[in-house]
Amino acid sequence: MKNLFIVLCIFFNFVTFIEAGSESVPLTETTQGQFPNLLEAMMISNRNMGEEIRNDLLNPNKITVVVCGSNSPFPSVSDAENTPAQACTAVFVNGQFLLFDAGDGAERSLERLNFPMSDLSAVFITHFHNDHFADLGEVIDRSWTFERRHKLSVYGGVGITQIINGIKSSYEFDYAYRNEHHGKDFLPLEYVDVIPYPIEIGDGESIVVYEKEGVVVTAFDVNHPPVEPALGFTVTFGGKKIVISGDTTFTETLLQQSKDADVLVSDAMNKEMVAQMEAISSKNGWSYNETIFHDIQEYHIGVNELGQLAHSAGVKTLLLMHMIPSGNPNQMQTSFVDPISKYFDGEIIIAHDGSRVTIPTNPSYQYEIVKDYYKSGALRSEVSYVNGIKDGISRTWYENGTLKNETAWIMGSGRAKNYNENGIFIPFVIHPEYTGKEYCLKKARALIITTSVSTLGEDGAATGVFASEMTTPYYEFFDAGMDVDIASIEGGKIPIDPMSFAPGLISSYDQRYLADEVFLKKTNNSLKIDNIDFTDYDIVFLSGGWGAAYDLGFSEVLGKKITAAYRESIPLGAVCHGSLGFLRAKDKNGNPLVTGKRITGVTDKQVRELGIEITPQHPETELKAAGAIYESNTATLDILANYIVADGIIITGQNQNAGAEVAHELMALVAGNQGYTSIDNCNQSSSSFDFDNDQKLSLGDIIHGLKILSTQDNTPSDSQLLPVTPDGTGKQCKTDNDCSGNIANKCLKNGGEFGFCTHEGCKANECQEPYVCCHDCSNFVSSMLPFEGSACLPGGQVGQLTASPVSCTCD
Ligand SMILES: [Zn+2]
Ligand SMILES: [Zn+2]
Repeated sequence: MKNLFIVLCIFFNFVTFIEAGSESVPLTETTQGQFPNLLEAMMISNRNMGEEIRNDLLNPNKITVVVCGSNSPFPSVSDAENTPAQACTAVFVNGQFLLFDAGDGAERSLERLNFPMSDLSAVFITHFHNDHFADLGEVIDRSWTFERRHKLSVYGGVGITQIINGIKSSYEFDYAYRNEHHGKDFLPLEYVDVIPYPIEIGDGESIVVYEKEGVVVTAFDVNHPPVEPALGFTVTFGGKKIVISGDTTFTETLLQQSKDADVLVSDAMNKEMVAQMEAISSKNGWSYNETIFHDIQEYHIGVNELGQLAHSAGVKTLLLMHMIPSGNPNQMQTSFVDPISKYFDGEIIIAHDGSRVTIPTNPSYQYEIVKDYYKSGALRSEVSYVNGIKDGISRTWYENGTLKNETAWIMGSGRAKNYNENGIFIPFVIHPEYTGKEYCLKKARALIITTSVSTLGEDGAATGVFASEMTTPYYEFFDAGMDVDIASIEGGKIPIDPMSFAPGLISSYDQRYLADEVFLKKTNNSLKIDNIDFTDYDIVFLSGGWGAAYDLGFSEVLGKKITAAYRESIPLGAVCHGSLGFLRAKDKNGNPLVTGKRITGVTDKQVRELGIEITPQHPETELKAAGAIYESNTATLDILANYIVADGIIITGQNQNAGAEVAHELMALVAGNQGYTSIDNCNQSSSSFDFDNDQKLSLGDIIHGLKILSTQDNTPSDSQLLPVTPDGTGKQCKTDNDCSGNIANKCLKNGGEFGFCTHEGCKANECQEPYVCCHDCSNFVSSMLPFEGSACLPGGQVGQLTASPVSCTCD
């Protein structure tokens, strides 16, 4: 807590200190006599508490979501002293303090919570009802007087500039007095002069509005008529997601944005009760109340819809605020928790001011930005990665500096938006350009598999593979230096859907194909899958197209071969109808491979939109029926949507738009988190990363941290020893015998003479401090790890294990 705060609040704090519970000191004559000492003790204690709260909230290893204002404009039943503040949600993420809405009382509530106002990073306003921004002026002014020494940005719909200007105008005297009184350099005016960022957004759209050190805030359109604009926000960081709905009814956009949210902060209304209140008002002739109760039902989400939304979106925790009507805890249970939990079995919290949810983030989180430039030196692309997986925002620019596309990635799954050279949003992009790391994988081999079916139904229109779903991965692999083979279900000439080459649909990859004799020859004489051992390859890719709907999902041979490849941990990819090729494959336990896997493929909506429903298998329907966790994106027409999902070694893309991305994510698995180089270098053999099957990954590289005890044959020095926990984890050992009698009865070594005892078969959060349980490592490397399944490992040293491609979860 800052000095000034202490001075301003000293009497308030003094009184509360005296009165507060267990630490209280009665204000007797004796203590009054010791007043200066007591005062100092209180100031120190207060300052320390502020500092502790600050360190806790700004700790980058967790996200803390706090409802700082839980009330709606509706009268609260609480007693006057504890009247909750109106809409206010604070999110502390990666050392940043983000504030969403500042309704009446928000600033007082933040101060009561001892939040570090000087660290306030940015404010986001969902909409311009007064219960969402009435205290914005106070938040701006007081964070400044509490020593905020950076400019504050305030984001909101179009209109935010007018509001900020209004605040500036009404606070002008105050700013000037304080500036003059405390000194121009002490309270510089430049920091109270906040910057408004108006957000322009279309119906159902979303847009990234804030991005700093891996933290991304996306605004999305919600429905709160007649309020326009009305926004919701998502905050993502390190694979975690917080959604703030603002005030809204149920919308498809809200459902989409809430997908897999760790926390959904939502308003809620028990519409049955409000309808009853309307009826009572009517019966008694209270026409004013009747009108209000009637009108508000149309623009908030009801408890039933909210329960269904939270369930379908897979939300983990539902944090309810802005509840109408509010009541005592029993009433809140019956009017909100009970109806919502009919549909939703996740955690439901009825927020009061100060309610919080903490989400741990991975301490070994490694954030990296990869940039790529035009020959002119202009920036071409910027892609953000977390532990080697795309996460955060990726952008590509035209050479003139105009934004070309923007993709929001969450742990390998991404949604893209494209713009033309004048910066106008283009909804119609069939083959978006790939951005991101380029790989050089000489000696590695890829196999692309296509359909052999050439007509829709028995004498129907000509079809086959959709060309770009074969040509795109082919050239992406080829340009990375790989050998690429083309196979099909029946072998021989591959049928290509003639629509592939129609104007507007043909891709640059297709044009290259049509002039490429070697590739043409490969597709005219494709290998028959029966004659190939898939495990000879480093990547297997299944192309789609309408033809694939007739054979990929029915081929027992394909099923067996994919099963074998999966067993050998070979990265497997598919786009569009290609995902059907997984249907007959089995996992290591003999269960259908896709069951419980996150997977995508063409949507039923796209199939309907293109009017080709006669095909026997539709990926969305079939994958869901087989128990897959089917995911997808949507657009006006789904052929324009793009989505890819990574589940371990299986990378799938929704349709033709995802070919290049899927190919690259597969190559990322092969290359590991290292050794990639620019494509130019790949063509000059000398400096390239030379892929060698015999050295896929050195164990030493994977578990670098474990070397601490096993680098030499010498006995480790004391400083190298790990702490030993009561279950025996960390005890120094040479063999398993040295660990016997402990729960940690396995001696984990990495080639050296000494190792340490650990506990195999641990579960999340089961290892004692400072150890963490590393589990669910990717199949790709599981067999190379020095432990089976899971083990307790030193928490600070597991970065290599959590990074791709090892991709263990350590917690
Ligand atoms: Zn509202
Ligand atoms: Zn409201």
